[in-house]
Amino acid sequence: MTENSAASARHASERTKVFLDESEIPTHWYNIVADLPTPPAPHLHPGTREPMTADDMAALFAPGLIEQELSTERWIEIPEAVQEIYRLWRPSPLHRARRLEEALGTTARMYYKYEGESPVGSHKTNSAVPQVYFNKNAGRTRLTTETGAGQWGAALAFASQVFGLTCEIFQVRNTYENKPYRSLLMRTFGAQVQPSPSMNTAAGRDLNARFPGTSGSLGMAISEAVELALQDPNASYALGSVLNHVALHQTVIGQEAIRQFAGFGESLPDHLFACAGGGSNLAGIAFPFIRENLEGRAHVDVVACEPAAAPSMTQGEFRYDFGDVSGTTPLMKMYTLGNEFVPDPVHAGGLRYHGMAPLVSHCYHEGLVRAVAIKQREAFEAGVLFARAEGIVRASESTHAIAGALRQARAAAEDGTSPVILIGVSGSGQLDLPAYAEFLSGDMLDT
Ligand SMILES: *Cc1c(COP(=O)(O)O)cnc(C)c1O
Repeated sequence: MTENSAASARHASERTKVFLDESEIPTHWYNIVADLPTPPAPHLHPGTREPMTADDMAALFAPGLIEQELSTERWIEIPEAVQEIYRLWRPSPLHRARRLEEALGTTARMYYKYEGESPVGSHKTNSAVPQVYFNKNAGRTRLTTETGAGQWGAALAFASQVFGLTCEIFQVRNTYENKPYRSLLMRTFGAQVQPSPSMNTAAGRDLNARFPGTSGSLGMAISEAVELALQDPNASYALGSVLNHVALHQTVIGQEAIRQFAGFGESLPDHLFACAGGGSNLAGIAFPFIRENLEGRAHVDVVACEPAAAPSMTQGEFRYDFGDVSGTTPLMKMYTLGNEFVPDPVHAGGLRYHGMAPLVSHCYHEGLVRAVAIKQREAFEAGVLFARAEGIVRASESTHAIAGALRQARAAAEDGTSPVILIGVSGSGQLDLPAYAEFLSGDMLDT
């Protein structure tokens, strides 16, 4: 080794974070379907129960997105107009969590990929921007959607503003009432927001009659948004997670992370932890690493961290189910708790979903992904430790990923091993501070 390369090797291993140049933002999304050892089950038409065709989906989604939903191509080019918007916040940094390692006294080397620096503070913009772009290309002028904690709603509101589309959002009533800041953010980006179930759709009126006083659920809000989109040929529905094309868009995260590990002079991680609600941030960071596993270049243990209050993988069944409560979406083969399941109102609103993305479910079924369920006090305990060590208050959802990683790091300290651990940090928690305060006061329910 020359003196220079020794210095740069030392430099690499001492770094705190690695950025990439803007020119290194991925130019293609990675479609794991091309590399899966067994093909995932197709979505089925809710009426005929036959495999969904592109024509069947045309009433809900733009053609470009339908093509991606059904694609078996490995690489799908990211349009230049989308890359241009990605450059507002991408590439996102990969950090070494040195101070967290010290706080834990672990021999593990811990890294985290942080998506909280996007315009709305989460990974959701990675899919909102292309979804709106392909709808605009198809001549649609109006988008309808659901949102739980409001991260997806804010992302779609921002992207709709960028491309000049109208955006109508149904927000789960519980969070609409208890977390007003996120709906203010959506309105700031120019969207219309209402609590769900509302009295403004047939689905909403029916749900209010069937479940009087309900605090709402993502599945209910989806029913309302789908209904409006089906009534108007100029409108499309947009979903923030679960579907194949959403998982696809998020793969910019994992592709960047793979390149960034080299900047630390580190080989690929031994363990990867990401939180899993509908599965999109997990898919986004993990699928490119699973490709490395499938091609024999790495042995990354991929762990989905789901909330104990909505444990679709660890407790659910792998079967066809609807994405919504009213049974209007395509039927998808996934791990599910049943489409009428209403989870306890835990703080991680983005994780309160009855099902898991069909592609993530397939990987779990095939043993390419593991899953653990985490209660919210353990998650917030990890979130507070992380905030105090690294100075970032993470989204309630993301705290589940760090809790999973802390279990691994503590085990390493006990057996004296030094694994490399990567944590997917899907978002910032500045708007989740009331939940942190509840944890610190000791009042948080341990569900
Ligand atoms: C929406 C959201 C999640 C959960 O959704 P996935 O599709 O599972 O990624 C997780 N973290 C944050 C910050 C979110 O906004």
